[in-house]
Amino acid sequence: MNVTHFECALCRKHHEARTLQNLCRECGKPLLVRYDLASAARTLKPSTLVDRESSLWRYREVLPVEDWTNTVSFGEGWTPLLSAQRLAGKLRVNLDLYIKDEGQNPTQSFKARGMTAAISMAKEFGVKKVAVPSAGNAAGAMAAYAARAGMEAYIFMPSDTPRANVIECEQTGAKVTLVDGLITDCGKIVAERKEAEGWFDVSTLKEPYRVEGKKTMGYELAEQLNWELPDVILYPTGGGTGLIGMWKAFDEMEEMGWIGPKRPRMVSVQSSTCAPIVRAFKKGERFADEFENASTVASGLRVPKAIGDFLILDAIRASSGTAIAVDDSELVAAVGEMGAAEGVFTAPEGAACLPALRKLIDSGFVKGGERVVLFNTGAGVKYLECF
Ligand SMILES: *Cc1c(COP(=O)(O)O)cnc(C)c1O
Ligand SMILES: [Zn+2]
Repeated sequence: MNVTHFECALCRKHHEARTLQNLCRECGKPLLVRYDLASAARTLKPSTLVDRESSLWRYREVLPVEDWTNTVSFGEGWTPLLSAQRLAGKLRVNLDLYIKDEGQNPTQSFKARGMTAAISMAKEFGVKKVAVPSAGNAAGAMAAYAARAGMEAYIFMPSDTPRANVIECEQTGAKVTLVDGLITDCGKIVAERKEAEGWFDVSTLKEPYRVEGKKTMGYELAEQLNWELPDVILYPTGGGTGLIGMWKAFDEMEEMGWIGPKRPRMVSVQSSTCAPIVRAFKKGERFADEFENASTVASGLRVPKAIGDFLILDAIRASSGTAIAVDDSELVAAVGEMGAAEGVFTAPEGAACLPALRKLIDSGFVKGGERVVLFNTGAGVKYLECF
């Protein structure tokens, strides 16, 4: 185990890592896990990865679990990076295009990556009850991992969350409360009740481990592309955990000497009816104001206020990336287009990357010959109401 401490992402204050913690005690912002990477790199090497398990736990030296018997896993991660040349053929310029298909994870979304890390660590610390506010897929993943760990799961979701998410939670034994409001309202309920109820709050970026699970997308991308990162990554952004995680992974890999300083241009894709990051990016702001009357059928993108907003915006700017919004009608239509071209039935969140890519080609941001990765973050079968 190579964890040395937690570091506050904003004020940089160090916190003790071997205790259960949520946010920075100084400023209330997210904590990031720091590792002794020189120690990790002694056994974790590109050459030793070849024989390892086909899950994200192949990168165990840069993951937080100390006692491996605490790992709660369904074999998540190590999802395929699908070449998408037929889809590329429908674009105005010639691209080396890929889809990272996160819909193939357990519980059909990349939320499994975050939850395998968070629930494993909750188990390591002896937690018995976990709670989460969710737009949908985080709930489904948490319910499954909590059941496998023998924990009680308390879930708060907006009442108009896709039905598949509600049913999967109920059928995997979670206690589900539907809230007349948004994920931010659900988060307030968890925050108010957690102390009295004895719940550990697994809200994204309000505990340090979900981002650790999700950062493995960055490691996988590098490994699958033979340690050369793509030119552009399009990432459908809600809380931004995956984008923040990948950005962290790139720095860790550089520190271990696996990659150079070159980074992909990170593109945050949102729905035009819930686009707080796009708005803040355009205004040149480091923190994003809450987006009023947020709505979108891409439920994973319905996050009007993200606690990690500054980390998303910092990464986008440091990478010379951008943030772009697409309409719900465009992203729903793109599900069918991607499905017909490549056979991947994407979540509407993932499909949002396609109209975003077209706009970026038109504006000249993405140029012919570039290597571009679209993140399909979930599976379309969970969103039957959309079609
Ligand atoms: C949660 C979710 C997102 C947003 O992920 P973040 O890392 O929180 O930005 C995107 N797509 C799907 C399918 C999701 O479930
Ligand atoms: Zn702080």
